Amino acid sequence: MTLVDSPEKQVSLHEQAVRQFHEAAEIMDLNPDYRAILAHPKNEVIVNFPVRMDTGEYRSFRGYRIQHNNLLGPYKGGIRFSPHVDLDEVKALATWMTWKSALCDVPFGGGKGGIAFDPREHSQSELERIVRRFTHALGSNIGPDHDIPAPDLGSNAQTMVWMMDTYANSTAAANRQSVKGVVTGKPIESGGSLGREKATGQGVLFSLQHWCDETNTDFSGLRVAIQGYGNVGSNVGRLFEVYGATIVSVADHTGAVIAPDGLSAFELADHVAETGGVVDFAGATNCSADDFWSADVDVLVPGALENQITLANVDQIQARVIVEAANGPTTPAAEEQFLAGGGEVLPDILVNAGGVVVSYFEWLQNKSAQPWTLDVVDNKLRDVLLGAADRTVVAKGNHGCSRRNAAYIVALEKLERVYDQRGIFP
Ligand code: NAD
Repeated sequence: MTLVDSPEKQVSLHEQAVRQFHEAAEIMDLNPDYRAILAHPKNEVIVNFPVRMDTGEYRSFRGYRIQHNNLLGPYKGGIRFSPHVDLDEVKALATWMTWKSALCDVPFGGGKGGIAFDPREHSQSELERIVRRFTHALGSNIGPDHDIPAPDLGSNAQTMVWMMDTYANSTAAANRQSVKGVVTGKPIESGGSLGREKATGQGVLFSLQHWCDETNTDFSGLRVAIQGYGNVGSNVGRLFEVYGATIVSVADHTGAVIAPDGLSAFELADHVAETGGVVDFAGATNCSADDFWSADVDVLVPGALENQITLANVDQIQARVIVEAANGPTTPAAEEQFLAGGGEVLPDILVNAGGVVVSYFEWLQNKSAQPWTLDVVDNKLRDVLLGAADRTVVAKGNHGCSRRNAAYIVALEKLERVYDQRGIFP
């Protein structure tokens, strides 16, 4: 995906991710050898595979799995289903996963994958064949101690259980029970964790609560706009409402709705489940994209796609704080402008890390064959995320830098310490 952020600048998403990395590496003076290693993914796997459609015809699909870094543990990251998926996008997303795990002290590396197609255009049986054939094509490139996929945009718990079952059936019978942890984000009955479905939204809540404590802001007085009302956005909406915030406007791929006095996040989630999108929700009024971006709110939560907040719309934003639930939703130029105007950006690698943290909990539960209660999951997630947010605030003070650079620095310092200890083979 190429972005035109200003007439003189064309930046791909991966280039953008690498620039962010170099900016933080420069501030903290990261060892140049580690800098060279971390600027590229270790492995880039591309698979082309045929799938039988319901009509009986075969169609060829292209899938990706990028393994950015595994210094701290197995490669870890979601599988994205979207027509926009390409090598550049998954490379950027895999890179961000490495920083996320390191920032949160989770013993995983970074990976990401995807298939370039629109899941909405396929029946359940076609989807199942696409997912199983993709998993088979990835073969031993994934594994419970090697590379562990999870849900992302366009994929879900059903996708994960198909992946697990396909992987298990390609494993020797005697070892089949020990490979449940090859994916996370599974349904509970098939080895999933309580709290995983809402984990990313839960982490967004903890991150904003942390910022509210830091800035003496009353969470329950906040007015909020959310872009995306899928897994992440709808959990953010419902959790924020439970804690007293007012959801004013929501946008997704079908359009946008607004209710200046607040809408019911729960009823909107039901409406989306029934109709496939937010438009025509009875509890609000349909509105334009401009109305959404310029809504009278304190908090803007981009929770859909990358590159949504650009120089073209950043000046419309009324919110004081952008809470990056999606990966890479704010372009560097837009962020610079927003910060210069006195706004705050809570960065993606911190804000949406709840998903990977609870994935780690799911993996631990699979290894020990012991389920945890929801309270245990939520409390441990809170501890991990508040710890990461605290370390970010300290690094921000020490280096006098942006919150994004500070989060990167915490992650990079951890990776640097481990490279120092292990050295570079051979
Ligand atoms: P999802 O597929 O469940 O939902 C995606 C949402 O984005 C939908 O509401 C869809 O309508 C909306 N959308 C799609 N195209 C859009 C467009 N052009 N304009 C406006 N809205 C559009 O996906 P998700 O799992 O909720 O992921 C959303 C974001 O959060 C992605 O950036 C993903 O990488 C990130 N994320 C997800 C997780 C997770 O655990 N699912 C974890 C970390 C980060």
